[in-house]
Amino acid sequence: MEKSDAKKESIMEKLISLAKRRGFIYQGSEVYGGLAGTWDYGPLGVALKNNIKGLWWKRFVLDREDMYGMDAALLMNQNVWKASGHVAGFADPLVEDKKTKKRYRADHLLEEAGVDVKGMNLEAMSKALKEKGIKSPEGNELSDVRQFNMMFKTNVGAMEDESSISYLRPETAQGMFVNFKNVLDSFHPKLPFGMAQIGKAFRNEIAPRDFIFRTREFEQMEIEYFVKPTEWEPVFESFVKEVWAFTKDVGIAQEKVSELPIAPADLAHYSKRTTDFEFEFPFGKKELYGLAYRTDFDLKAHSDASGADLSYFDEEAKVRFIPHCIEPSFGVDRTVLAVLSSAYREDELGGEVRTYLAFTPAVAPVKVAVFPLLKNKPELVTKAREVYSTLRKEISGQVLFDDNGNIGKRYRRQDEIGTPFCVTVDFETIEKDNCVTVRNRDTGTQERISLDTLIAYLKGKLV
Ligand code: ATP
Repeated sequence: MEKSDAKKESIMEKLISLAKRRGFIYQGSEVYGGLAGTWDYGPLGVALKNNIKGLWWKRFVLDREDMYGMDAALLMNQNVWKASGHVAGFADPLVEDKKTKKRYRADHLLEEAGVDVKGMNLEAMSKALKEKGIKSPEGNELSDVRQFNMMFKTNVGAMEDESSISYLRPETAQGMFVNFKNVLDSFHPKLPFGMAQIGKAFRNEIAPRDFIFRTREFEQMEIEYFVKPTEWEPVFESFVKEVWAFTKDVGIAQEKVSELPIAPADLAHYSKRTTDFEFEFPFGKKELYGLAYRTDFDLKAHSDASGADLSYFDEEAKVRFIPHCIEPSFGVDRTVLAVLSSAYREDELGGEVRTYLAFTPAVAPVKVAVFPLLKNKPELVTKAREVYSTLRKEISGQVLFDDNGNIGKRYRRQDEIGTPFCVTVDFETIEKDNCVTVRNRDTGTQERISLDTLIAYLKGKLV
């Protein structure tokens, strides 16, 4: 292993262990040995995730006049997934180890062997595996490449027959297409307009890996933005800019994000143009978000299959047509991982090595921590508690109180969870100047701030 690879790997290990130790992310069902591809968000993880989702909702729904929020059911009529193409085609290319019967992603094995799989169909992958003499990770012969459907199947109701089949949704998108007519009828929006939704999605990934990067249960933030057929291009371009802007909102390192236009041969069945946004994760450059021009594929497919009229009538031009659609799709968990890896820092402060998360204040799970200088001085504790309860009311986001251990240790603990500011009440606060010490996470610098201006000071810094 190259030295830099070892370093990247160790950063990932450090992140995973910090996330667990400090209550961000735990292995799913851990006490039973876990369940592959599932992770549970602890108190700080859920706060981080909610902050990210809040920023997304603000940028894409609240701050716009042309967006309609949604929250569709996870379980949908199986015909939705037949019409969308998922029952027939939502599949990964798989090979089976002929001896152990374990299954692997053929494209991943080929990529690991340095083969560019872009544009390859199943036969081409089978051929390349043979030509390269690629074996399973256990060293055994592999089967030919086959498709494996990634949707979780279930039955709804008491009968377990063909008619009761449903699927846990593999994307949130379809919930919006099937509600297109409802939104048209309730709000009469004019094109262009969009529908937006945040929610869980499930995929039976054959090889869940890289912490919360590839999981079987995850969350998506998706937009279906409807346009006139001739007007998709400028809208696509404007969403490229919006995706970049969102990565900045949440504090993702801009130099680690890049655009990858998808080659025509690799486009999904519904797409005429797709740009992936990639991020340099500690384990390599991988897809963070996708932006796709889905044409009128979905609305048309659901119109045809359901018989519902999903067309739009243009009052000015007096024409009726099926709108085309641009879809920016964001993974919440991949955002969390990109935010965590962008924020992870190790440095030296006051001669001591420290680890901290340089979160942008908007995503930080805890905004401010309040300390009394000494735990055993009731006057300090009372005053600090007073400051704490005022800040809790005034600051939007979590404020913590901590009087455990010495101040240095408390700073380290807050640094490690990315709290931007620590406020300490000392004897001078009470006896002399009515000021507190405000300490900055990134620089370690301390300022005396009057209690009269503390709220305004913090609010100004926390935006
Ligand atoms: P990949 O090629 O990595 O499997 P995809 O192209 O299948 O991803 P999309 O179908 O475009 O992904 O899904 C939209 C977004 O949902 C992705 O950009 C990603 O952020 C997120 N996502 C997809 N699959 C997973 C997963 N298994 N775990 C976590 N997030 C995911």
